Amino acid sequence: MKGISLMKLSCAEAAELCTKAEYKETSLREKIRLKLHLYFCRTCKDYHKNNKKLSGLLKKADLKTCSSQEKEHLKNKIKSEHSQISQQQKKQ
Ligand SMILES: [Zn+2]
Repeated sequence: MKGISLMKLSCAEAAELCTKAEYKETSLREKIRLKLHLYFCRTCKDYHKNNKKLSGLLKKADLKTCSSQEKEHLKNKIKSEHSQISQQQKKQ
């Protein structure tokens, strides 16, 4: 099982990869590690689902060519939720 533990991510790392994944900046290896983490970690799985919803909104916003201010606002919203989650996990 040593190989698997090497692949393991902390929740904070997983949250970071989630963001990167939304912007298609993850490598294949990172994607696999993220998937693996989401498989074992319910918190991050739920979080990832929400994140996808938000990024869907972001794409819709893009289609409507809304102002870059609004897009920034959504991006910041995603980011602040990420940091909230990592903070919650540090407390645990
Ligand atoms: Zn996690």
